[in-house]
Amino acid sequence: MPDCDACGLSLNGSVNFCPRCGQPQNEAAAKRLDDYVERQAARDAGTDTRTDDRTALADRASYIVGYVTIVAGFAITADLPTVLFVLAGVSILPPVGRILGRIVGLSTGIRVRAPLFAVFVAAGVAAWQFL
Ligand SMILES: [Zn+2]
Repeated sequence: MPDCDACGLSLNGSVNFCPRCGQPQNEAAAKRLDDYVERQAARDAGTDTRTDDRTALADRASYIVGYVTIVAGFAITADLPTVLFVLAGVSILPPVGRILGRIVGLSTGIRVRAPLFAVFVAAGVAAWQFL
């Protein structure tokens, strides 16, 4: 049974971190800890864009609108309108915006996601009412 290098505690071979002192016990755990410390340092230095209050508020509102739209889409229980409402709900979620932004190489903040959301909702309402 291995011991912790830092404090000497006897460890079960499969632990990532020492339960007594927190010392990482393998390469992957050490890397995760380094990444975490770097993210915290970036946040403290203000380089993390998510610290912007208005962006955080828009993101929170986006989650609420997105999830409500998806649930409403399923409540309708009609094939095409449901798909369109789900697409609308998903398109306004902040992580989806960041992924799309990486793919197309453009900013996809709330000013881009909201019109996309509106187009899908309009199409969903049209399909629901007229098909
Ligand atoms: Zn230890």
